[in-house]
Amino acid sequence: MELKEYWSDRNHSRDFKLIRIGFVAIRFRWLVTLLIIGIAGWIAVDWWVLDPAHFKLLWKVRLITGVMLTPLLPLSYLCKLDRRWMVMSLHSLLGILLLFNFVSLWSFRDGVPIPVGYVAFPYFLLALLAVLPLPIRSGIRVAVVVTVAVLATDYWLDSRSLDNGELLDRIWLLLCFSLAMIWVQTGQLRMLLDLYRESTRDPLTRLMNRRLFVRQLEDTRQHSSAERPYTLILLDLDRFKRINDDHGHLMGDEVLVSVANTIMDIFGQDATVARYGGEEFMVLLDNTGLEQGERQAETLRLAVESQPVENPLDESEVMVTISGGVVEGRLDSDLTELLRQADEALYAAKSKGRNCVVAHR
Ligand code: GH3
Ligand code: MG
Ligand code: MG
Repeated sequence: MELKEYWSDRNHSRDFKLIRIGFVAIRFRWLVTLLIIGIAGWIAVDWWVLDPAHFKLLWKVRLITGVMLTPLLPLSYLCKLDRRWMVMSLHSLLGILLLFNFVSLWSFRDGVPIPVGYVAFPYFLLALLAVLPLPIRSGIRVAVVVTVAVLATDYWLDSRSLDNGELLDRIWLLLCFSLAMIWVQTGQLRMLLDLYRESTRDPLTRLMNRRLFVRQLEDTRQHSSAERPYTLILLDLDRFKRINDDHGHLMGDEVLVSVANTIMDIFGQDATVARYGGEEFMVLLDNTGLEQGERQAETLRLAVESQPVENPLDESEVMVTISGGVVEGRLDSDLTELLRQADEALYAAKSKGRNCVVAHR
């Protein structure tokens, strides 16, 4: 668990960002629907508790608020495409609701005591916003906006003499609700992050799995161009079954982890590395042509060859080698075809006697 992942979405991968935004968009839609129904439905309470002149004013305010909230429903579908739509929708929601809060409290201006159901709206709003899996920084922003708006509303409207005690009470309550909101939001973000990791990581090597890799590959293809090709390296351990048979499956697992670590040591953050299958790994090099990719695959092959894996049980060493198939992709490449070509090149490397790299030309 990394704190910075909870602090801001800047530290999330593009893939997770899209998944989280999709999730926020669905919750946002439900939230807006609930608010429209709740705010309009409250007309019945207004009718019950307010005098006729006050009711006549407030039901119109409620209806106008409902109408203003309605465009946010179709807008929430755009949120899935871009974070900026999401931020704009959230700001609009807050703006409309805080304006509604202001007008609703203002309607009590001639000294009528305000029933608690009307004063409680901002606290209710903070509680509702807890359903969104927002990072802490965004949660704090929401809390600050609501707090400032509520205090400004009080200040503006209060010929009702808000003394220091009352003000402190209000700030204290807003702080408690804000902390609770941020706590629940972070909990949801954590749950999403955990589920995402579980479904996209290989538990043995901690590399990404095939499902996520294919999504990343498609993403890289879309961002490629004639001057910016990408290269795929498909790697397969040589005679791995023999390692399993001779030294046991535990040692086999140890070898897989060791090779995964070597791949990460060589490529680090410069490549997308995945465990593609049982003893197959895939490396995606963005902005890399075939020759360069071939050279990098060769560097990796030599590194694996020169690092025997120690058997933790008897401290013996096991020699491991890999074979690789390299292929270059373009913007117009068909990914299924590209993967088939990588497989073909790997097969050629195996046929050549293993422990070598073959590029598809
Ligand atoms: P080649 O050089 O032709 O690739 O020979 P190979 O023995 O590596 O090829 P093959 O595909 O026949 O064998 C792959 C083996 O990898 C079979 C399977 O038992 C083993 N394997 C797959 N996943 C795991 C795993 O997670 N752990 C262990 N220990 N073995 C695995
Ligand atoms: Mg294999
Ligand atoms: Mg193999």
